[in-house]
Amino acid sequence: MNIILLGPPGAGKGTQAQRLQQERGMVQLSTGDMLRAAVASGSDLGKKAKGIMERGELVSDELMVGLIEDRIAQPDCAKGFILDGFPRTQAQAEALDRMLTASGAKLDRVVEMEVDEAALTERIVGRFSCAKCGAGYHDKFKQPKVEGVCDVCGNKEFTRRKDDNAETVKTRMAAYRAQTEPLLPYYGTRGVLRKVDGMAPMDTVYRQISAILAGT
Ligand code: ADP
Ligand code: ADP
Ligand code: ZN
Repeated sequence: MNIILLGPPGAGKGTQAQRLQQERGMVQLSTGDMLRAAVASGSDLGKKAKGIMERGELVSDELMVGLIEDRIAQPDCAKGFILDGFPRTQAQAEALDRMLTASGAKLDRVVEMEVDEAALTERIVGRFSCAKCGAGYHDKFKQPKVEGVCDVCGNKEFTRRKDDNAETVKTRMAAYRAQTEPLLPYYGTRGVLRKVDGMAPMDTVYRQISAILAGT
């Protein structure tokens, strides 16, 4: 099964994708994580993306489509994938359709995660993750079970994203409204779109998504 998690920054896409990966063996394809790895490695892509990401703007469709095209072609994606952070524009959505058609794969569901705009900033400024395994946490909503120790891998170092500040969030929200939200009718008319209440606790959201996947 291949799905897209669609929602504004901070909606909970990464949180749910990580759990779907752990519990169902689907592969999480987070374009944000891929870009951050490229920035950390100092690759050409990383050099091009760094400033754009720090400003909260979108990286070009050409770079993003190339990145995802290479990743989807890897053998592990045959188990089913979860797109987290892609597509973000109409051109990316159309490119994805072409890629899937060319490889004989299909898009089973697009899950829209609806969250009040007021809650998003609080989620984003409180977000941090394990520096080793990437497990996601929050100062208020999801602290490690043992303070300072990652639940998943036991590591004691955590990181915060440079773009997770109230100022950049405004630009990222504007990009979402202008370029990504218009994809909802694109998928709606094809009958693959389902909504979940992203304001609910994480476990409840996970159950809602599981119910949607069970119905396919
Ligand atoms: P996205 O990938 O959509 O940007 P994340 O999954 O990283 O969002 O979630 C943003 C922050 O909000 C994280 O710190 C996460 O722990 C927290 N979070 C995720 N889902 C919920 C939820 N349902 N309720 C409260 N906090 C949440
Ligand atoms: P969030 O889940 O909080 O919105 P991501 O980790 O998905 O953030 O993305 C971080 C940044 O990476 C974005 O603000 C943007 O600059 C870039 N990015 C990620 N995915 C895409 C994409 N599909 N198209 C363009 N830019 C992207
Ligand atoms: Zn960890």
